[in-house]
Amino acid sequence: MATLKNQTTCPYCGVGCGVNTTHDDQRIIAVSGDEDHPANQGRLCVKGSALHETTAMEGRLLKPRVDGREHSWNTTLDTLATRLEGIIAAHGPESVAMYLSGQLLTEDYYVANKLMKGFIGSAHVDTNSRLCMSSTVVGYKRAFGGDLQPCSYEDIDHAELMVLVGSNAAWNHPILYQRMVAAKNTNPDIKVVLIDPRRTATADLADLHLALKPGTDALIFNAILAALAERNALDADYIDAHTEGFDAALSAAQTSAGDLAQVAREADVPLIDLEQLVDWFCSTERTLTFFSQGINQSSSGTDKVNSIINCHLATGRLGRPGMGPFSLTGQPNAMGGREVGGLANQLAAHMDFSQSAFVGRVGRFWQAPNMATREGYKAVDLFEAIERGEIKAVWIMATNPLVSLPDANRVRRALEKCELVIVSECMANTDTLELADIVLPASGWSEKNGTVTNSERRISRQRGLVPPPGDAKHDWWIICELAKRMGYRDTFDYASPAAIFREHARLSGFENNRTRGFDISGMAELSDLAYDSLKPIQWPVNEQAPKGTPRLFADGHFFTPSNRARLLPVTPQAPKQQPSSEYPLIVNSGRIRDQWHTMTRTGRAARLLQHHAEPFIEIHPDDARRFQVEHLQLAELQNELGRYRGRIRITDQQRPGEVFIPMHWTRQFTQTGISGSLFAPEVDPFSGQPESKQGRATLKPLHMCWEARLLVREERSIEDHWWTRVPLNHCTSYRLADTEAVENWRDWCESHLGVPSLWLDDQAHKRFRAAGIHNNRLDWILLVEPSAELPDLAWLDSCFDVEIDLDTRRQLLDAKAPGEQATGAVICSCFQVREPDIISAVIEGADSAQALGEQLKCGTNCGSCVPELKELVKVHGVEKSA
Ligand code: SF4
Repeated sequence: MATLKNQTTCPYCGVGCGVNTTHDDQRIIAVSGDEDHPANQGRLCVKGSALHETTAMEGRLLKPRVDGREHSWNTTLDTLATRLEGIIAAHGPESVAMYLSGQLLTEDYYVANKLMKGFIGSAHVDTNSRLCMSSTVVGYKRAFGGDLQPCSYEDIDHAELMVLVGSNAAWNHPILYQRMVAAKNTNPDIKVVLIDPRRTATADLADLHLALKPGTDALIFNAILAALAERNALDADYIDAHTEGFDAALSAAQTSAGDLAQVAREADVPLIDLEQLVDWFCSTERTLTFFSQGINQSSSGTDKVNSIINCHLATGRLGRPGMGPFSLTGQPNAMGGREVGGLANQLAAHMDFSQSAFVGRVGRFWQAPNMATREGYKAVDLFEAIERGEIKAVWIMATNPLVSLPDANRVRRALEKCELVIVSECMANTDTLELADIVLPASGWSEKNGTVTNSERRISRQRGLVPPPGDAKHDWWIICELAKRMGYRDTFDYASPAAIFREHARLSGFENNRTRGFDISGMAELSDLAYDSLKPIQWPVNEQAPKGTPRLFADGHFFTPSNRARLLPVTPQAPKQQPSSEYPLIVNSGRIRDQWHTMTRTGRAARLLQHHAEPFIEIHPDDARRFQVEHLQLAELQNELGRYRGRIRITDQQRPGEVFIPMHWTRQFTQTGISGSLFAPEVDPFSGQPESKQGRATLKPLHMCWEARLLVREERSIEDHWWTRVPLNHCTSYRLADTEAVENWRDWCESHLGVPSLWLDDQAHKRFRAAGIHNNRLDWILLVEPSAELPDLAWLDSCFDVEIDLDTRRQLLDAKAPGEQATGAVICSCFQVREPDIISAVIEGADSAQALGEQLKCGTNCGSCVPELKELVKVHGVEKSA
């Protein structure tokens, strides 16, 4: 079979790294960073480096299904069209909705919006990007007259001050973070400030960390604006020539944050640190302010975004190298979705429902018979409308709302009641799929063909390199085939994604006349060949900028009616979900380093689950004492909405009174670990973005009688105990635990696993070990302990891949190969370097992350683990000197 090489784009975060692939005509064999892609210049983080490990066929959804039975595409699409038409005829077009995803390609997104907003006539099309950056969209639109991100990654190379607010870039935008590290290494005079309640890995780069009280970000930026005025650091000429609204914005800032000492008290940060931030901000022309979910996922996220932009407009710091307000987008194509109107309050090509002229223009261009004329429901409202029975049919594509939306239990109830749930998905097992009436198998990364746009407005190709498995089809094809069956054959008769892209590009330039910032009309005539070989390019791409545009607003022209940028008066608001005597802890949620969203893909790569293998609760030592929980003990957070179980991790990186939980775990990976269960559906009034950074709960320890590790060749359902699942290379590993004792473990084995081939029952130490061997192959092994101190996995996993000889048989219940040392958590996922080896190297003299890298290679690829390496040097270097 011939081996081919190609270029595509990573499907995970908004950095949008270019990926070189080696593949044959069936599978991706290897990946590496694309040196020619400007976003990453040859580097990949650990998630990107493991892409080829997530593309195996096992677990893929292969056949369309209707009401639980497999059917051909013809039958399935006919049935879908008939059912949708029936619902529309009975209840009107607004009884139908779509819920899309930043994982879709721009071309998929474009036809989905066109079908719903122009032809079915419903604007109830929202996307999981609503949960990610919709507050930024509104903030940019209010300030600039369009959803226009002004900066470019190359600005990092020019900045003198980088402020990261609500952004753990070290874990969530790792390659961009590495660029920040490189910039600071080149010029140590560059100042970096982190504003975040948690001391995250990003703090490692920071000269200053403001661990502020959650939700007080706008107060800090109002304080900066007031100080800029007081210290004469404004750019009066820029304000006069290019902005409006300055006086009102300044007045609001002075009223709420005119007194730095008072702000420091309210934000709970040391005054000296706040003064340092203000000094640097006032005196540094080349200032970049990065922000992401810590700002957006708030009930006042839009105002927070505008409080940041205000400071840049008041100093004229945008449109030039090394400066600007820079939203780091979470998903690979959230920006592409925004371009085509993927949000319920948007129309295509950066138009919306605010003017009838926009609706008319898009309708004319599409020759649409049923243009929606008003905004649809945003994500939270949309699922509430489903629960009320107002929306009768919902089509969910490439996302898992049962896990990712707030009040996850209510979302489940809504979908259970919905008349018609359609799910397009590439994986066979997701929480949302369990509730689908019609299941549509979709192509995935390396199969899909189209474009994505990253955080710096750069459009890149995601290429179809291998064929989709089974009957899986591309999303754009599925949508167009349905549209044809609903009577729109001519308008949805696209030959390829290239044809869709050309139409999208034409619409962006249609009656534009420099009134809309998003304009890629320069690519409206791309041939199929030119589309296929398209190099990454930053929009706008038009007659004036045929090679793209690294930076917006260099000429001071904005897209508001007056062509001036707007400063907004911001009155800081407290989060809606406040702790109470019953629920005294603030709950924060977010991503972890090696996982992506709901783990449907990253959860398939064994090495990506070795950094954190189960849901956890990070808590300050004071709170651990207060709630009587111990490090690594299982515990439960609970509030009026739901429960979340995870393992306690005591850390002073948390503020007292606040806990952090990861957002990734689903019912496919654990019993009770959905973070969304704890968050109320409180949203920002302008953007509709949920407040996922502040919930509230109480905490109780779970006093487990026993913990066990079970490794099995075939996956099992073990619902009668607490469990988490980790796929390994040759088997599946479960951790099990319970507060109730098991009377007879041998009986338990027989009822859950089969008759043990060998076992060891050490009742005095509450320890039981057993294994099932069939035809000299290991089928399962169970290791029960009274505590969480269970043996490690690597050797046991390898036993599922070999014949079990007499020696191995003797070792099995010892759970490790002869002479094997204790293993521990994998810190460097790229080179699989474990914590005990790193600690030994530190004790033996390695005194820096660099020295560890030279000795063990850890931290020398993507660099994401460098902050953890430094922490280990800090902690265990003391042991050496002691
Ligand atoms: S930084 Fe983001 S886009 Fe780049 S390789 Fe990692 S996950 Fe993929």
